[in-house]
Amino acid sequence: THFGFQTVNESEKANKVAQVFHSVAKNYDIMNDVMSGGLHRVWKHFTINTARVPKGGKVLDIAGGTGDLSRGWAKRVGKEGEVWLTDINSSMLSVGRDRLLNEGMILPVAVCDAEKLPFPDNYFDLVSVSFGLRNMTHKDVALSEMYRVLKPGGTLLVLEFSKVYEPLAPAYDFYSFKFLPVMGKLIAKDADSYQYLAESIRMHPDQETLKQMMLDVGFDQVDYHNLTAGVVALHKGVKF
Ligand code: SAM
Repeated sequence: THFGFQTVNESEKANKVAQVFHSVAKNYDIMNDVMSGGLHRVWKHFTINTARVPKGGKVLDIAGGTGDLSRGWAKRVGKEGEVWLTDINSSMLSVGRDRLLNEGMILPVAVCDAEKLPFPDNYFDLVSVSFGLRNMTHKDVALSEMYRVLKPGGTLLVLEFSKVYEPLAPAYDFYSFKFLPVMGKLIAKDADSYQYLAESIRMHPDQETLKQMMLDVGFDQVDYHNLTAGVVALHKGVKF
């Protein structure tokens, strides 16, 4: 079943996403390294280090999973800052919280749906979502929520798979539809979840479409930066 396709009923998609991330949580970090050849670290590093975020600032990491970005934000904002690690999936968050605790970091952690954020209006300086937006059922609703909780002048960063430079598309297709599920099966014993991931990557809006979606919910100065020939793009938008 192609769960990424819009014809699939919405609660079915949400259930599938929940099932996939409960199932991959324990192996998520190792699989990220294996499947991206470590590149996800470079993409996240770029996101964290190029962001404009004040010392002492408030940051919300949505769909934060095992906490890679949250950890980076905590270092950027320092002790006076406030970084929330949030995700809809308790298994992913447990792995993330334990990992951060082992590194001596205590951050507020909350299970929450990006489409209904339990935070007041105009609260955060920065909101981030990495490799999470494509899993959301109503991306426009989630983007509006991100807009709502940002302070005027605050920034949204969306790091997500995107449309690869055309000449590389056949190689990339081979990689994601043949190699990924096989690796998922071998390492995580879970070919189906990795098949879903490959399909969801392919269904996600391309660079210009996501830019327009951000403009549509009210963001200004929306722009993006392609990473690794567009395998991934970092979109940025500011709330005025
Ligand atoms: N941000 C982490 C990273 O970059 O490694 C985790 C990304 S993981 C591929 C996607 C995450 O999105 C999962 O942890 C999943 O539970 C979360 N997610 C999916 N739908 C969501 C929603 N509606 N609200 C919040 N999180 C959601």
